[in-house]
Amino acid sequence: MSGDAMSDWTEGTEAILYQRCGTCSRVWYFRRDFCPHCGDTKVVSYRAAGSGTVHAMTRVARAPSEALRAHAPYVIGLVDVDEGFRMMAHLDDGVRIGDRVRARFETFGDAIVPVFGTD
Ligand SMILES: [Zn+2]
Repeated sequence: MSGDAMSDWTEGTEAILYQRCGTCSRVWYFRRDFCPHCGDTKVVSYRAAGSGTVHAMTRVARAPSEALRAHAPYVIGLVDVDEGFRMMAHLDDGVRIGDRVRARFETFGDAIVPVFGTD
């Protein structure tokens, strides 16, 4: 891990984090100890505001586990977040590709997950 202590929704905190390289300034979503573009270790985490645009989406009819079965069908999509990275997340029913969306957090199974919906 990089030395920062920020936590995100995967750890139960209502936050979406991303990282930026201190050398080449590129940003990415999945937490790493080094930049996936230039390999530098000057990596800093930031909290995203939670707004973005829907890039792609799909409806999940069959939940991947027993705990999630009660939620199906649900919609999963790729959101281009305004800070410059793309993430997979839950979407509200009725959201369409190209829509401007904002994240909130909901309980899903035994975790909290970001859910993007139109305002
Ligand atoms: Zn870099």
